[in-house]
This record gives sequence, C-alpha cells and structure tokens, in this order.
Amino acid sequence: MTNQASSPAKPALQIFKAKLAWRKDLNTNFAEFKFELLEPNRISFEAGQYLLLEVPETGHQRSYSIASPPSLDHAIHLLVDFTPQGPGSKYLQSLKPGEEVKMIAPLGRFVISDQDSQIGQTEKKIVLLATGSGIAPYKSMIEDRLITKKDYRPLTLIWGLRYESDQFWYDDFSLLASQHPNFSFQPVLSRPNEGWQFHKGYVTDVLSIQDDFSETGYFLCGNGSMVKDAREMLTQKGVAPENIHFETFF
Ligand SMILES: Cc1cc2nc3c(=O)[nH]c(=O)nc-3n(C[C@H](O)[C@H](O)[C@H](O)COP(=O)(O)OP(=O)(O)OC[C@H]3O[C@@H](n4cnc5c(N)ncnc54)[C@H](O)[C@@H]3O)c2cc1C
Repeated sequence: MTNQASSPAKPALQIFKAKLAWRKDLNTNFAEFKFELLEPNRISFEAGQYLLLEVPETGHQRSYSIASPPSLDHAIHLLVDFTPQGPGSKYLQSLKPGEEVKMIAPLGRFVISDQDSQIGQTEKKIVLLATGSGIAPYKSMIEDRLITKKDYRPLTLIWGLRYESDQFWYDDFSLLASQHPNFSFQPVLSRPNEGWQFHKGYVTDVLSIQDDFSETGYFLCGNGSMVKDAREMLTQKGVAPENIHFETFF
C-alpha cells in the first residue's frame, strides 16, 4: 500500500525478462540480488519504485522494491528478506545465477519529490524511517538524491533491525554520511548486545525525540504496525498528510 505523492509523469510499465547475475548473502536472513535485464535490456524508473516478480508454477506475484539507483539502468538490485518463507521468498532463496525471471516494472508512487516541486517546497528536510527490508527503496533513493541529483536538503535515515547480527549495508550508509554532510544515518536495534553505542528501541522512539517536525517530508517503509504507529505520531505532531509518505510491506 502506498499513499499518493505528487510527482512528474510515470515511466511506462513493462514486462521484463532478466537473468540472475549474482547473489550476495548479507547475513542469515537477507540477501542482495543483481539481475541483468535481457528483454528489454534497459529500465526507466524513479528511485523508490518497485516491481512485481512472477513466482513460476504458483500463479503468485510478489512485490520487491528496486534497491539500485535509476542511474544503473541495465540491471537492478533487489534486497530480499527470507524470513517469511512463502512462495516469493522461497523462490528467490532457491534461485541460482544464470536462471531467468519475469518481472513487471516500475510500480508505485513512493518517491521523493524534487526540491523545486510543489511538494518539495514544503519538504525542506527529508526523514526516512525503515524497519527490516523496508530499507530497500531507500538504498536507491539515498544514492539517487546524494550522488545523482545532488539534493542539498538534510536527509536522515532511521533504520531499525532487531539484533547486531542482522546488520548489513551499515558501511555503505556510514561512508555516504562521511562524504555528504547533509546525510545522517541513525541505526536502531531493538535487542542489541551490551556495548551497542547507537539508538536502542524502535524507530518510532527515535522519531518521537525529534525536536522539529515542520517543513519535513516523512517516508515510512516496512511492517504495518511501524507504519501505523509512525503515521499516528506524525499526525499528532501536526505533520500534514501530504508530507507523510508510506509503503507497507506486510
Ligand atoms: C510495495 C512492496 C515492496 C516490497 N519490497 C520488498 C523488498 O524489497 N524486499 C522484501 O524482502 N520484501 C518486500 N516486500 C514484501 C514481499 O512482497 C513479500 O510479501 C515477501 O517477500 C513475502 O512473500 P512470500 O511469498 O515469501 O510470503 P507470503 O506468502 O506473502 O507471506 C507469508 C507470511 O509472512 C508474512 N510476512 C511477509 N513479509 C514478511 C517479512 N518481511 N517479515 C516477516 N513476516 C513477513 C506475511 O504477512 C504472511 O503472514 C514488498 C512488499 C510490497 C507491498
């Protein structure tokens, strides 16, 4: 489920045939996949959009956010959480390099508006909240905003996982934060080991201690209860509905 953000014309929806180039296990639950596009061999999409993957022989389709930025247009990366073990995650878990998949893309309106757009002018700061695999669209959005679009607005990523052993991509986000003074990365763990130096608890705890909710675009992505709690909190803080963008994964 997505709310409607206003933004320019949508790139056209197409059916793609793609081949798994490689897969990298990030920890026991998460893996990153790179698919080379075969036919058509290029894609046009906006950072934050997703695709529908066909799960062969099941009649099912599953949604996955495109984790790579639009500047990589001959291939796409996906981040997959294997925890659910339904048709989609089982299929991707068993997929081998060289095997082909069918997908429909791009879909969704979970995108950051440009700073000079109508919505962008009311969003002088951007805050991204994620739980678990909800980080996938943000990998694309953050790289697109900081590297391609050179967006100078303050951009904060608050990402919640459970354990320290769940961590991945921390180095990538920390490096981006060291290179881009307008980007801040705030990891949160709900069950950290002793000695964890960053936020402990839930992403909504970190959200609640922000001191200024004005002129900010909030993006919420991940499990339904986080999205619901964060929307309620932001509404209570006086954030307008058009500045609360969300994508509910399950
Ligand atoms: C717009 C959109 C984008 C998405 N992008 C991604 C993405 O980038 N990466 C990704 O891994 N998933 C993503 N999802 C979720 C994905 O579409 C599937 O729902 C997920 O992979 C589970 O599919 P499944 O067939 O394995 O299990 P299902 O048969 O769909 O679900 C089995 C059970 O697991 C629960 N469940 C589903 N997902 C999770 C989860 N992550 N953790 C715990 N329980 C869960 C379901 O509620 C259900 O009870 C996205 C969903 C949407 C709507």
